[in-house]
Amino acid sequence: CGAKSARRSFAFYDPEQEAYSRNQLTLMGDLREALAEGHLLVYYQPKVKMIDGVVSEAEALVRWQHPVRGFIAPSVFIPFAEQTGKLRAITEWVVHDVLMQAAVWIEEGLELCISVNVGVSDVEDASFVSFLERQLAQCQVQPQNLCLEITETGVMRNPKDLMRNLEYLRAMGVKLSIDDFGTGYSSFAYLAKMPVHELKIDQSFVMSMSERFENVSIVRSIIELGHILGLSVIAEGVETEAAWQALAVMGCDEAQGYLIAAPMPADAFSLWCMADSRKHLPITPPNMGED
Ligand code: C2E
Ligand code: MG
Ligand code: MG
Ligand code: MG
Repeated sequence: CGAKSARRSFAFYDPEQEAYSRNQLTLMGDLREALAEGHLLVYYQPKVKMIDGVVSEAEALVRWQHPVRGFIAPSVFIPFAEQTGKLRAITEWVVHDVLMQAAVWIEEGLELCISVNVGVSDVEDASFVSFLERQLAQCQVQPQNLCLEITETGVMRNPKDLMRNLEYLRAMGVKLSIDDFGTGYSSFAYLAKMPVHELKIDQSFVMSMSERFENVSIVRSIIELGHILGLSVIAEGVETEAAWQALAVMGCDEAQGYLIAAPMPADAFSLWCMADSRKHLPITPPNMGED
């Protein structure tokens, strides 16, 4: 960090740096246009209960169909939007789109809780909380049908100040989930007080359980910790039957990942829900008494 700031005090002309900045500037303008022109779209990925494979929730994941550059992944533009103060506009767009979709699905008899990924900067702001209240009322969606996922790193950056808004949201009935759990630096004192209902095990641990046995222990510890705190635990990045089975044995509550389904557009998602989406899942029949 010291070396970096020292370097910055020299004003060498760096063509590569300039090209990079120009590129970022263009991207920022394009992002503004994407929001205005409707180039963003939301994909949905099911979250299922491990006990019976029933779809309990869906996670909304934003995509950017850039007219020139093509598909831009959220892992590219979300951090960029966060750095440039544009995340809030994206979050509000996603929330609005999701709640309108949720209202349509509820009307059609598909009642789900939908998770939206939000930045800590969104949730820290009281005006975002009132935005949510207004949107829920306008779209006539119950707060129980909305879940906010906040990363562990975000939550633990300033847990004390975040708590108030999280408590308010929880009291409203909105569900809260800590995403990418295991990659941040949780204070257990704060974690125990956090008004959340779910821990989401980071996919890096889940995907490499078969290669690194330590990861099985880490996953087991997170499941136990979650249960001790009275939280539901979901594993993301479930790609194989072996991972599903290991998680089921460890008592993980829910699963999400390519084994179940990849994120898909809204229409495909509702068709997927109507089809018997469970048939390929390695669900073990309920244990009848014996151990
Ligand atoms: P995340 O919230 O942890 O979402 C999980 C990511 O893993 C998604 O990537 C999903 O498509 C991917 N994934 C799901 N199942 C599997 C699997 O079995 N294997 C593998 N390898 N990957 C799987 P995606 O959609 O590219 O999103 C990446 C990240 O971008 C998200 O991580 C989230 O942090 C962020 N993001 C996405 N949409 C939004 C949004 O609307 N708002 C905000 N603030 N962040 C978003
Ligand atoms: Mg997420
Ligand atoms: Mg995650
Ligand atoms: Mg859940």
